Amino acid sequence: MKITEVKTYPLRMALQQPSWTAHEISGDATLTLFEVRTDEGIAGYGEVQGGPQKTICDLAKAYGECITGMDPLGHVDIWEKLFSSTSPRPGGLGGWDGLPAPLPRGQRPQAMAAIGGIDIALWDIKGKAANMPVYKLLGGSRTSVFTYSTGGYYIEGAPLESCAEEFAGYVEMGYRAVKMKTGAFSVKDELIRIKAVRDAIGPDVLLMLDMNAPYGVDDCIAFAKAVAPHDIFWLEEPLHWHLQPADFVRLAKGSPIPLAHGEREWTRFTIRDFIDSGALGYVQFDSTRHAGFTESLRIAHHAEQQGVKIAPHTAPQLHAHLASAFGDAAFGAESHGGTDRHPIQHGLYTEHADVRDGMVHLSDRPGFGVEIDWDFVKKVGA
Ligand SMILES: [Mg+2]
Repeated sequence: MKITEVKTYPLRMALQQPSWTAHEISGDATLTLFEVRTDEGIAGYGEVQGGPQKTICDLAKAYGECITGMDPLGHVDIWEKLFSSTSPRPGGLGGWDGLPAPLPRGQRPQAMAAIGGIDIALWDIKGKAANMPVYKLLGGSRTSVFTYSTGGYYIEGAPLESCAEEFAGYVEMGYRAVKMKTGAFSVKDELIRIKAVRDAIGPDVLLMLDMNAPYGVDDCIAFAKAVAPHDIFWLEEPLHWHLQPADFVRLAKGSPIPLAHGEREWTRFTIRDFIDSGALGYVQFDSTRHAGFTESLRIAHHAEQQGVKIAPHTAPQLHAHLASAFGDAAFGAESHGGTDRHPIQHGLYTEHADVRDGMVHLSDRPGFGVEIDWDFVKKVGA
């Protein structure tokens, strides 16, 4: 089998209600759909987050030309070839070695997203070629994978306690774990929000806090001590963007709550050092942001050996396949109980893993088990 074409479809939809995290305000949802075609009629699909979408699509086009004619089942060779083009290398200046010229520094996140979209599509092709779902290719047999719902995005002008009702709704839907956005307000105001949510979900539902990097180490230790009486399961992405494993180690020593981190890291090399530092209880790589499913698998194997639980970020229809194959080493997958935060992810597929009763239910369909709604793609094409 040979790769014949890589196509991308940048999608964008306005949100009904703009919302924000501690980091950013979102008025739109975006997603870039990847399609890898082959000479045997099998096509694989991947999705990535991130932007600018035009840069991601331009890089995907160059990478597509670079891998046309290669065997799509050789995903490691393809990953290494594309990744090698991101660095300066002897003989590579000007693209003289047949690969794209070394990547401008500012395009690294978009390049890792483009590699990710292609790589996910290759795993979809692999499953379709074997007529097997990806979780079975990996040796998994569980078709139900634990999931939690993320919510509590900030809405301008909404009362502090207003998200409590949203979380009670997730519990009613069968979720036994939920994660709320925090970190945008003062500790005093966040305590009002967190208490309202804990009261609404009861004592038995796991409650995680997703912080989006608002703190330095000392501030975060004070925050962790203040919220701990509300029985918090993990603090996610607690520290500023520039802080490193050594800082997370200091935080872990002072925090009564375990730490989760990883969604913002681009490769297994940086995540390795967070895992090895001993600071993390949970690691949150994301195939759809950077580097794809192959890199996520590499991270998952390393985390398992170091006793750090695997908790992949978003895209439950993909990441539940991985969690299925890691037994007790995997905490589970992330999902969104509501459709309002990412209407594209909820509208893009006519077939996908079913999130129900707090579990992701995987089907026997080959690959990742998704079917694209092409009318929807046409409707929301950017
Ligand atoms: Mg997060």
